[in-house]
Amino acid sequence: MQIPKDGCLICQSELVYQSTTEVLKCSFCEQDFDSNVKCINSHYICDSCHSLDAQQIIEKTCNNSKTTNPIELAFSLMNHPSVKMHGPEHHFLVPAVLITTYYNKIGKPQLKAEKLEIAKKRANKILGGFCGFYGNCGAGVGCGIFISTILEATPLSENEWKLANLISAESLRNIALKGGPRCCKRNTFTALETAIEFLKEHLGVSLDSGKVICGYFERNRECKHEDCEYFPE
Ligand SMILES: [Zn+2]
Ligand SMILES: [Zn+2]
Repeated sequence: MQIPKDGCLICQSELVYQSTTEVLKCSFCEQDFDSNVKCINSHYICDSCHSLDAQQIIEKTCNNSKTTNPIELAFSLMNHPSVKMHGPEHHFLVPAVLITTYYNKIGKPQLKAEKLEIAKKRANKILGGFCGFYGNCGAGVGCGIFISTILEATPLSENEWKLANLISAESLRNIALKGGPRCCKRNTFTALETAIEFLKEHLGVSLDSGKVICGYFERNRECKHEDCEYFPE
């Protein structure tokens, strides 16, 4: 039913089927449901969330999330089967988790829906393979979309224009210095780490963060393993 037979989407552990139902909170939309299946760590994913495409699950989860930790939110989205190992869905994922955690942190979650909608439309314009073909990794550009959206920058703005371009520049630089081949997980983690520092320095907003340990390398044929700082020790 809701969760794939090969285990929990969140923690990959075994599923438990019970003869009676209980009220469980969906790990993506955080709504309560009656269910008779959960994983051994009590994770549950509702039918609706399970069947959404990448963009829909990112938008829905972000709208309902209360977290102020963008890395943690990115991890839970990356665990959804519609979010592939690599792909342009990461171009929306980056600004979406930043918009979400920023507005949660400053106590204005009611502004998220409108901003997520704007970011989604802009991120859709960044083509797949933008990193290698245009020299503009979509995760890095996603940081620019984030700042532009929250500060309502336009081509005529002054300081907002500066900050939107500056965060893309810093993020792209940090992504570039790690070298190819592209990894949408590594680039996303680096973009988010850059954005967390940038927000602290330029806007005085401290989001939660922590050490990133990648759990996706087995799905990545081009993984750099020990040469990637996120590879588990
Ligand atoms: Zn689980
Ligand atoms: Zn759900």
